[in-house]
Amino acid sequence: MNLIFLGAPGSGKGTQAEQANAKYNIPAVSTGNMLREAVKNGTEAGLKAKSFMDAGGLVPDEVVIGILKDRIALDDAKKGFILDGFPRTVEQAEALERMGVNIDKVINIHVDDEKIIARMSGRRVCSDCGASYHIEYKPVKTEGKCDLCPGAVVLRDDDKPETVLTRLKTYHEKTAPLISFYESRGKLKTVVGQQEIADTTKLTFEAIDA
Ligand code: ADP
Ligand code: ZN
Repeated sequence: MNLIFLGAPGSGKGTQAEQANAKYNIPAVSTGNMLREAVKNGTEAGLKAKSFMDAGGLVPDEVVIGILKDRIALDDAKKGFILDGFPRTVEQAEALERMGVNIDKVINIHVDDEKIIARMSGRRVCSDCGASYHIEYKPVKTEGKCDLCPGAVVLRDDDKPETVLTRLKTYHEKTAPLISFYESRGKLKTVVGQQEIADTTKLTFEAIDA
């Protein structure tokens, strides 16, 4: 089963992708996490990506598509995968089709812009393993420490309020057109993001199983 999780930054798609990974036992492939990892390790792709990410824009397609292609070629992705944060442009979606990847369903997690802006200031991420948290909705067990690894939990560089607005604009311009792209292919299921993570998870699983 190959799934795409679509949604604005802060819509909770990464969190739901982690939940779906646990339930369906297929890897959640987050291009955002992979890019942050590349930046941290100072790889060639990371060096190219950093300035775009910090500015709230998109990393050039050729960089992201290369990373994604290598990732889904790994053994654990043979039985299926959940794409979180890819495709983010119609060009990326077309590249995926050209690779011959068949997508079963696209889960579009909808959250209004005002709610997103309010949420993002509370978001935190593990600087080691990339696990995501929220000071209100998904707090860590020990202040400042990841639940899953010894890493520190931090505010992402691009979660600063001014960058959040740019990222939302980028989403509406570049990524939202994918909603009609996948609708026209009969693959789209929209889930309305709820206040409680578990409620969204329930709706997400229903959409996947439907
Ligand atoms: P969010 O969806 O919460 O904004 P992500 O972790 O998915 O965050 O992505 C963080 C940043 O990484 C994006 O703002 C963008 O700069 C870059 N990025 C991630 N995925 C892609 C992609 N598929 N294409 C281009 N840039 C990407
Ligand atoms: Zn961690």
